[in-house]
Amino acid sequence: MADLAERRRHLVDELRSEGIRDERVLAALARVPREAFIPGEARDDAYRNSALPIGEQQTISQPFVVALMTQELSLTGAERVLEIGTGSGYQTAILAELSAEVVTVERHPSLLERARAVLDSLGYGAVELHLSNGSLGWPRGAPYDRILVTAASPDVPEPLLGQLGPRGRLVIPVGSTTQQDLLLVTREPDGVRSRKLGPVRFVPLVGQAGWHPSEDWPTANGG
Ligand code: SAH
Repeated sequence: MADLAERRRHLVDELRSEGIRDERVLAALARVPREAFIPGEARDDAYRNSALPIGEQQTISQPFVVALMTQELSLTGAERVLEIGTGSGYQTAILAELSAEVVTVERHPSLLERARAVLDSLGYGAVELHLSNGSLGWPRGAPYDRILVTAASPDVPEPLLGQLGPRGRLVIPVGSTTQQDLLLVTREPDGVRSRKLGPVRFVPLVGQAGWHPSEDWPTANGG
């Protein structure tokens, strides 16, 4: 895998040609070594534009989806960001590249510990990781300027809306068990607005404000 850096550059070119316009987001994807976040044999596929297994029946999100969601957060570098669904920690690293503070919440201890180790080893030790049910957010750190949910929810969880600060942006996949719409929810002075960004397929957000753990879910490809 001597040509990893070149493969990463190719992937970034592919994302640009697929419509990702924010050069800061593309530069962050060019800096973060995705292979470090992928366990086992799937690591060889790190620079394919696809979701890959990371254990616990979860997946690292497709690079295009990571880039799109990050772009829609409109990060300037000054924001406090809450991420729900740490998973591999890859999206977490991208957020850390582009914002001031990242708080991330994961429900699987094994994934959280692996993400913590990888993030530390790559110099993202300032990220705050918590083992918790993220459908309830992380109230102790609220309000957040941005919230990113990387698991699918039947609705926008109320606790997350409550933790979104003024002029805040929340990106979340909302829909059924087989397909969701990526939603951009913004808090404006006159209320909350919501806009659909396109169809996606994510693993479920499990918990009180998400899906029951026993729901029967197909394999995801978005994340
Ligand atoms: N951004 C991650 C995507 C991981 S998949 C990556 O690119 O690697 C979604 C993650 O959300 C899974 O790790 C899953 O365990 C986690 N998750 C699902 N429901 C959750 C909940 N209620 N609270 C916290 N994490 C949750």
